[in-house]
Amino acid sequence: VVKTRFAPSPTGYLHIGGARTALFSWAYAKRHGGKFILRIEDTDVARSTPEAVQAIVDGMAWLQLDHDEGPFYQMQRMETYKKVIQKMLDDGHAYYCYCSKEELDALREAQMQQGLKPRYDGRWRPEPGKELPAVPVDIPPVVRFKNPTAGLVAWDDMVKGRIEIANAELDDLIIARADGTPTYNFCVVVDDWEMGVTQVIRGDDHVNNTPRQINMLQALGAQVPQYAHLSMILGDDGQKLSKRHGAVSVMQYHEDGYLREAVLNYLARLGWSHGDDEVFSMDQFCAWFDLDHITPSAAQFNTEKLNWLNAHYIKTLPLAQIADEVRPRLAALGVVDTQVPDLFAVLNLYRERSNNLNQLAKDIAFFYQMPAINAADVEKHIQPETADTIESFLAKVQDSSWTADSLHDALNQVVTEQQIKFPKLAMPLRVALIGIAQSPSIDQVMSLLGKEVCIERIRALF
Ligand code: GLU
Repeated sequence: VVKTRFAPSPTGYLHIGGARTALFSWAYAKRHGGKFILRIEDTDVARSTPEAVQAIVDGMAWLQLDHDEGPFYQMQRMETYKKVIQKMLDDGHAYYCYCSKEELDALREAQMQQGLKPRYDGRWRPEPGKELPAVPVDIPPVVRFKNPTAGLVAWDDMVKGRIEIANAELDDLIIARADGTPTYNFCVVVDDWEMGVTQVIRGDDHVNNTPRQINMLQALGAQVPQYAHLSMILGDDGQKLSKRHGAVSVMQYHEDGYLREAVLNYLARLGWSHGDDEVFSMDQFCAWFDLDHITPSAAQFNTEKLNWLNAHYIKTLPLAQIADEVRPRLAALGVVDTQVPDLFAVLNLYRERSNNLNQLAKDIAFFYQMPAINAADVEKHIQPETADTIESFLAKVQDSSWTADSLHDALNQVVTEQQIKFPKLAMPLRVALIGIAQSPSIDQVMSLLGKEVCIERIRALF
């Protein structure tokens, strides 16, 4: 049975790269009827925080990337790691190393001077017929993994293809520190093994860890999982994605006016493709997703494309869902009651024009509160003769039923009678009603606003 995992270190928010890794792991499990595990790798106690754990959990919840198992916390699994370390010692796959810090520093110094890459020289590594140094009394030992010295460690990376490393390149990794705590690579190995992970999908910053992890898994007699190392995500300028490029935290996108559906659809296409398909649901994605169509080269973040997808989903998702997203954003602008005019009707008229939920809320706030009047638009669209035009319009609609159709007719009659172009009437009306000279068709806006509000706002300016 397929089992994938997302294994973030809780040292910050859930960022775009992490979210994509999580999405791919989740989709792979879904596609194969498998299970998806969430594992919090919190052993770096100096950098891990409960806030970061919460941020990751919140981000995953917002994206609806539900896990089937976990969350597991590595800090709660110390006993397991210690048991496995003992087993490795008992089986001869690991050994105590009593090198002092000074000794290791001296070794490194000497190697550097000879132009060699610094590496542990195996002085405490037991070998048949080899005499080990005398055990010092005052130095608590670390535990090192007995890495094979000959041959290759190799795997067929599902993204990057075959990768081979000579064991001679790898030295004996510390798996337990002098205080007994297990080290990062070792915990990952124990977890992937014990949790039965079959596909490790992660960022390619971990490629260098993989040969060591494979060797340890083999020493444990574990089934080695398949690996898929995803290339990093670059900003639109080709540099590594960072705060400079705008939001990197997933929840920041939520705050910045993006729909989950747009972010997920965008992330799905970031380094993976399915022909020319750009717009698809997560169900569709899970049915299609495979590791063969992941591009090995770095993916470039493209905000315009994300905005385009956001516009698509704002336009096409059920109105009730868009309303749920927009209400709190309106509340942040001071609009609490969205009954009159009916928010659904307002959204129906406005959502076609928007690629952002915050902008959409700003655009429609005038339906519920007096807008600020844009001085530049007043200057541009209101002339001395405008007052006269407005008066004829008001006279015309005095007894109007105030439907979009009747308003439409009235507007047309006035411009015909006065022999003016349509904007000469529509623009001043927009400025008075909305504060700016842009809106969908003004008759529809007016019918939604209602007669009383319209007259009041027009009278405030004329
Ligand atoms: N905890 C690691 C990270 O956040 C991921 C480890 C893994 O996926 O093996 O980068």
